[in-house]
Amino acid sequence: MPSPIGHALAGIAVAWTADLVPGDRAWRTAPASGTWYQRAGGGLTLVCAGLGAAPDLDLAFTAHRTATHGLSAMMVVAAVAAVSAAGAGRPIARVTVMCAAAYGSHLLLDWLGADFYPPRGLQLLWPFNHEWYISGLDLFRQTARLRIFTRGPMLTNVRAILQELAILGPIVAALWLVRVKALAGLAAKVSGRDHSLQ
Ligand SMILES: [Zn+2]
Repeated sequence: MPSPIGHALAGIAVAWTADLVPGDRAWRTAPASGTWYQRAGGGLTLVCAGLGAAPDLDLAFTAHRTATHGLSAMMVVAAVAAVSAAGAGRPIARVTVMCAAAYGSHLLLDWLGADFYPPRGLQLLWPFNHEWYISGLDLFRQTARLRIFTRGPMLTNVRAILQELAILGPIVAALWLVRVKALAGLAAKVSGRDHSLQ
């Protein structure tokens, strides 16, 4: 199962992929003179990174990869996102899908990852079905969760994180470049409007 770093990268990738869908998205960008944070999509991109890693907060409790690793948890995230978007005056469908997909990316990566701790996989259909699902593809390495500051587990995690960066890093970098291109005209429009208001 991937580390929080891999999961957060996947959340960012989801946010930037959603930005490529045409529609009400000019608010997701900033002109080239803006900060990196603004240009990356600001708080909502950060929220998506957090949502990508959030399901593993269940490690603080006894039942790992059950309630937080199911499609019903994703629905809860979607509902909260929809209410928040409506409150903030943002496009509801866009924000809802973006947040739910960022959360869902965690489930996908876990499903694709290696898991040496039985029961292997995640309870995708919790609470309706307590079956454990895993692809068996072992695309992402197993991370160590115990004694992580000792040599063996630390090496395991460094290797796992490097592999996650090797897989997800190029995807995130490519998405950044495509997104900059796709949103460039919109950012100019936003800045033009700002100037005309001044
Ligand atoms: Zn997980």
